[in-house]
Amino acid sequence: MDKFKELVENRHEYARAWKRRTGGKVLGYFETYMPEEIVYAAGVLPVRILARHEPDNLSDKWIYASCYPVKDMVNQLLKGRYDYVDGLVNVEGCQWMFNAFEVAVNNRKDLFSHYLFLPDYTDAASSKDVLRSELDVYKKKIEEWTGKTVTDEALDHAIGVYNTNRRLLRRICELRRADRSVILGSEMMNIAFASQVMDKAEINAVLEKFIPELEDREPYKDRIRLMLIGSETHDARLEELVESLGGSVVIDELDNGTSYYWNDVNLQKDRLMALSLRYLGRPHNPVKDNNWRRRPQHIFELSEDYHIDGAIIAKQIYCHLHGTDNYAVWKILRERNIPFHFFERDTTLPLEETELRLEAFMNMLRPGLVRLAGWHKALEI
Ligand code: SF4
Repeated sequence: MDKFKELVENRHEYARAWKRRTGGKVLGYFETYMPEEIVYAAGVLPVRILARHEPDNLSDKWIYASCYPVKDMVNQLLKGRYDYVDGLVNVEGCQWMFNAFEVAVNNRKDLFSHYLFLPDYTDAASSKDVLRSELDVYKKKIEEWTGKTVTDEALDHAIGVYNTNRRLLRRICELRRADRSVILGSEMMNIAFASQVMDKAEINAVLEKFIPELEDREPYKDRIRLMLIGSETHDARLEELVESLGGSVVIDELDNGTSYYWNDVNLQKDRLMALSLRYLGRPHNPVKDNNWRRRPQHIFELSEDYHIDGAIIAKQIYCHLHGTDNYAVWKILRERNIPFHFFERDTTLPLEETELRLEAFMNMLRPGLVRLAGWHKALEI
């Protein structure tokens, strides 16, 4: 098991130990849109709630039908796997995620809870002021909950730690542009997951030590270069499957992948405005990209920069967000003759079927095949 996968697997023990060591509170969050810097500035550890594939005998009672990650997260929360969290926060986004939040807080009355409104129409002239004012409310609630004042100095420190983390993640990600990369997609994704469940200052220290080791590594032999597009993920099993078939995910466009660390907070006197601009300016998922449609162009630019052989579009079953946005992504990939394979998945990932389909797709991408404009259309479902 690589060290970052191990860190993610041991995240509950880590958070409990962190609490014992610091006496601080832990706040669980569902969306990577959560402005963690404000929470961190109050001495709280933000932890992303992750789905895990435990038998689910609990979520049906509370959620009628939703995507599998949400049911899985609800199962985790109701089973008490996150019994150490002191609060939960949900950011305006997917309605299923809100559902998971609601169920969890209704089942644990002792929790601090907050719903943060982040405008879906991120490009509106008023959005930055709306979000700034929501962040102000959020900051005051966090102060009340923790009994600590979030000073400008504390915010500057938190922003510095978070920008460092994003810079380190981008530096590692950049290494994937090489023809023969020193890092595989699964490892990169586990590094991102570890950053979502650990104290950022601590994971930064691990990454600072790891990067020189990584740069000295022997590069992997040639692999089929793939991009992963689609719904959020909660583990790196798909990347591992791709690797077992001779490929590697060299870039992704996932909420929990590159979108989590692609842009920094640019400091300005008004710290909350700086945060507002950062969260409105990050690469968006479909629910936040519903007017200007920047997402397809962003996907195309990543595909060019990381010179991919093809793309995998993996949508979680019942993910209406990505379901409704896919046509725009398919369109740009078709126009630019980028081969892609689309399929629906759930958190338990039907391995054999997925393996068969990916193998067929990847075989068609292997060097030596004559690539004709438009041939890839035959691969679409
Ligand atoms: S996978 Fe899609 S439907 Fe499910 S919580 Fe995420 S955005 Fe919502």
